Amino acid sequence: MILLQAKDITKVYENEGQTTDVLHGVSLELKSGESLAIHGGSGAGKSTLLHIIGTLDTPTSGDVYYKGENLKDKTDKELASFRNKNLGFVFQFHYLLGEFTALENVAMPARIGGYSKPESLQRASEILEKLGMSHRSSHFPSALSGGEQQRVAIARALIMNPSVLLADEPTGNLDKKNSLIIQDVFKQIVEEFEVGLIVVTHDSAFSKAFQRSKEMKDGNWAYL
Ligand code: ADP
Repeated sequence: MILLQAKDITKVYENEGQTTDVLHGVSLELKSGESLAIHGGSGAGKSTLLHIIGTLDTPTSGDVYYKGENLKDKTDKELASFRNKNLGFVFQFHYLLGEFTALENVAMPARIGGYSKPESLQRASEILEKLGMSHRSSHFPSALSGGEQQRVAIARALIMNPSVLLADEPTGNLDKKNSLIIQDVFKQIVEEFEVGLIVVTHDSAFSKAFQRSKEMKDGNWAYL
């Protein structure tokens, strides 16, 4: 089944009379349980495309469909609820909240999504265990290594059982050893959680770890 579809996406930024053409009619499809890496140099438009697919930004033209439904017709409130239920996000920086433990950080989207506190913490605990992070549950983010912080952020992205995980340079802030650990975590996730994955990276070696890999260049696919 096709989960996500982006059709002819363009993006033009306008700042103080200056226009920047960032995406030039990009299309892509993601099937359920499929992993796709998008790689390319800095400024190619990868993050912009990922943000549009994740409804964090809107295209100038073109459409994004989720299970065949055009997301253009949803209000901001509907989109927030849609993201909470169906999408998980992982960014280059972990954005964990410093005053909460790893467990509480992971539980946060479930609390926001309407689950009770005990149920949210239970789910968070199960996911941390699957990702080999149980022993760090009660630690605050500042007491975790960069790789561990990113694993907690991945656990948080998975707590609502999303059908799609969107990751933007998830190893951009990590050394080689931790990058490889995170690469393995993503492979595990695609198999165990049956989640579709789109990961954006500047690292072409990292992109080869996934089922499909596509290169972006100057706002479109390098090979059309
Ligand atoms: P990548 O993720 O491949 O490094 P980005 O999607 O971040 O590329 O950026 C693509 C281009 O869009 C860059 O030239 C960047 O400067 C430009 N860009 C991104 N956001 C904005 C913005 N808000 N206003 C103007 N230009 C932007």
